[in-house]
Amino acid sequence: MTEEEGHPRRGLDPEFTITHAVYCGRCGYCLYSLPYRGICPECGQEYNANAVEMKGIFKQDDVELPVGDGLGFCVFAMFAILLISVSIEPFESGKFFIGLIMGAMGLVFAVRTYARLQEFIRFQHIAKRIRKQERD
Ligand SMILES: [Zn+2]
Repeated sequence: MTEEEGHPRRGLDPEFTITHAVYCGRCGYCLYSLPYRGICPECGQEYNANAVEMKGIFKQDDVELPVGDGLGFCVFAMFAILLISVSIEPFESGKFFIGLIMGAMGLVFAVRTYARLQEFIRFQHIAKRIRKQERD
């Protein structure tokens, strides 16, 4: 063993293995005892558990409920429905057009809310799995 090997720079060398509980950012698999850099054995995601350059590692504060987007969707959808409904009888193209724009904005927010909600649900599954692993 050389002098250098006797003083390993733990965590920087992918040869060394993870000595604490960190979890895959995609599926929540416990990466304990695996190399610091590698591929999750369960889902195949590439990860890097080095503290200085973490990637693909689950972080507790990663995802929040998309409250702002959900609210944006509600407000735009409400105005769209209101404007379009009052513009029909008698027909007022100005209000109708603005109503359509509001509707389009509402749709954008709906899509964003949906995507973030999916992400949030996935996050909850991983967090639950991690809590279970920590108990065992
Ligand atoms: Zn994984």
